[in-house]
Amino acid sequence: MFGFGRWRRRRIVERFRLDPEIWSRVTGRFSFFLRLDEAERARLRELVILFLHGKQLSAAGGLELDLEKKLGIAIQACIVILNLGIEHYDSWVEIIVYPDEFMPRQEFRNEHGLIETDDASYAGQAWLHGPVILSWADVENAGDADGMNVVIHEFAHKLDMLNGDANGFPPLHREMNRADWSKVFSAAYEDLCRRLDAGEETEIDPYASESPAEFFAVVSEAFFEIPDLLRTVYPDVYAQLSLFYRQDPASRELPREWRLRLA
Ligand SMILES: [Zn+2]
Repeated sequence: MFGFGRWRRRRIVERFRLDPEIWSRVTGRFSFFLRLDEAERARLRELVILFLHGKQLSAAGGLELDLEKKLGIAIQACIVILNLGIEHYDSWVEIIVYPDEFMPRQEFRNEHGLIETDDASYAGQAWLHGPVILSWADVENAGDADGMNVVIHEFAHKLDMLNGDANGFPPLHREMNRADWSKVFSAAYEDLCRRLDAGEETEIDPYASESPAEFFAVVSEAFFEIPDLLRTVYPDVYAQLSLFYRQDPASRELPREWRLRLA
């Protein structure tokens, strides 16, 4: 069966026409892409095609969702699974994109058993077994190596949800150690919360202190966008994420023009 799946995927990739000019224009916006070598770029391109083929990307709220926008989302979603495989996104199909932050106005039961409406607005959401929802305005701002990336954030939640509700404990690979993961992430999470409580400025987005699930999603953004900084601040977290994503982005140098832009 595995052989058949591979054959089918090869056909999808070969039949998909992806304008090389559009591909290089869109990928050029992402610092993480520029760190990849040729083989990795080719693998990412295949994943992006499989992603666009298998997922249903729909626009809401009057947004025009053209190929460039879809590509931009797919590239960021697929960097996360570059060395994991497209199967990691198999259990759901839909991505909904709003022009800007959206208010889902979901009803939920509060701790007193009463029904409340959530009036918050969101840049992104990932639903268990359901869609990923994104704000295009925030997607457009992602990718410029500042450690904030709503697409990577929501897709990290999706990986976390492969074993139930997002809790910062995704299913680990066989060669990884659950106790190590737990120890390293708890210590870093506590450290971040303590520093924020003390009024310190943190290198990692303070939103990470919301919960262990948000911590995992936020450090995943940092892992792909500002890997050198994450490795400096939380080296053990970087090492665990490196085992989990099977990538070592800090070991690759950012091209000169980006280093100058960020300097
Ligand atoms: Zn989140």
